[in-house]
Amino acid sequence: MPVVDYKKYCQMLDNAKKNKFAYPAINVTSEISANACLEAFAELKCDGIIQVSTGGGEFASGTMLKDAALGAISIANHVHLVAEKYDINVALHTDHCPAKKVEPFLMPLIEESRKRVKAGLKPLFNSHMFDGSELPLKDNMDKAVELLKMCNELGIILEVEAGVVGGEEDGVNNEGAPKEKLYTTPEDMVEVHKRLSSVKDARFMFAATFGNVHGVYKPGNVKLRPDILKHGQDAVVAKYGPEASFYLVFHGGSGSALSEIRETLEYGVIKMNVDTDTQYAFTRPLVDHMLKNYDGVLKVEGEVGNKKLYDPRTYLKKSEESMKERVKQAVKDLRAEGTTLGR
Ligand SMILES: [Zn+2]
Repeated sequence: MPVVDYKKYCQMLDNAKKNKFAYPAINVTSEISANACLEAFAELKCDGIIQVSTGGGEFASGTMLKDAALGAISIANHVHLVAEKYDINVALHTDHCPAKKVEPFLMPLIEESRKRVKAGLKPLFNSHMFDGSELPLKDNMDKAVELLKMCNELGIILEVEAGVVGGEEDGVNNEGAPKEKLYTTPEDMVEVHKRLSSVKDARFMFAATFGNVHGVYKPGNVKLRPDILKHGQDAVVAKYGPEASFYLVFHGGSGSALSEIRETLEYGVIKMNVDTDTQYAFTRPLVDHMLKNYDGVLKVEGEVGNKKLYDPRTYLKKSEESMKERVKQAVKDLRAEGTTLGR
C-alpha cells in the first residue's frame, strides 16, 4: 500500500495506544535495509515505521556527497515506490535532529514535503524528530513549538525529546551524561505537554527518557526504569485529563529485556526505535559468508576467486534476510503482529 497519509498515520498511532502495542521504528541506511523492514512487516501483517537518521542520510547520499537530507530523500522516495507493492501500511520518519542540524537537515526535508503537498501529494516524511534535549527545556520547547507549527501545516507529526538517551549512536554521544538527565521528571513532562498542546490540533510524539540508552551494553550496565514513564503520564493526566496522555517513543530498544519492553507498552509507548540490533543482524551472515568462503571471495595466491561468491548480491541477500528476521522479532516483542489496519 502507499506510504500512509496523515489521517492513516494518526489512526495507526491511536490503534497502538488503544490496544497497548507499539510500532517498530527501524533505522535504515540503504534500499536493502528498507526492503528488509517492509518484508518483515508484510510477513507479520503489521504496519510499521521506517526511519532515517542524519548519519543514515549522509551514508545513503554516497561517501562523496555526504548530504544527509539528500540521502534521506532518496531512501524515502525508494520506500514510496516499493511500499505500494506490500499489503501493509508504512510511515516514514526521520530520527534525532539536534538544533544545529535543523537548517541543513530538517529544513530541506520540510521544504521537499511542502513542494509535494502544494502539488497535491502527501508529504515526503510522515514525522520528524527534533532532539533539543541538549538545550535548556525552555529553549528546547521554543524550537519544538516553531517546528510543530510548520510540520502540522503539512500533515507531519513531530517527535520531541526531553532528558537524554544515554550511550552513543550515529554521532549522538551522551555516554558522559549526568545520571539524573537519563530520567525525564514528571515536571518536565507536564511542561512539554503544556508547551506542545498550545499548537492547536497538532500531533506530536514524545521521547521521554527512563534510563534507556542507544547501543547494546552488557547486562547490569543499564538501569531501565519504565515506571518513570508511568509517573510522568500520571502527572500529565492529573493536570490536563486523560486525553493529554502522551504518545511515547522508546529510544534504544536494542538489547532491552522483553519484560521491560512490555511494561513500557502499558504506559503509552507506541513506537520503539531499533538500530543496533538490526545492524548486527545485517552484518552477522556477511561475516559467516566471508569466513566460510575465504578462498572464493578473495583471489588467493594467483587464483581468480569465485564470482558467484564475491558478487555483493550473494551476501547482501543474506543480510537482508537476517535483518528481516530481527525486525520480525521486534514486531513480536512489541505485540504488533497481525495489527495492520489495512486500507
Ligand atoms: Zn534515539
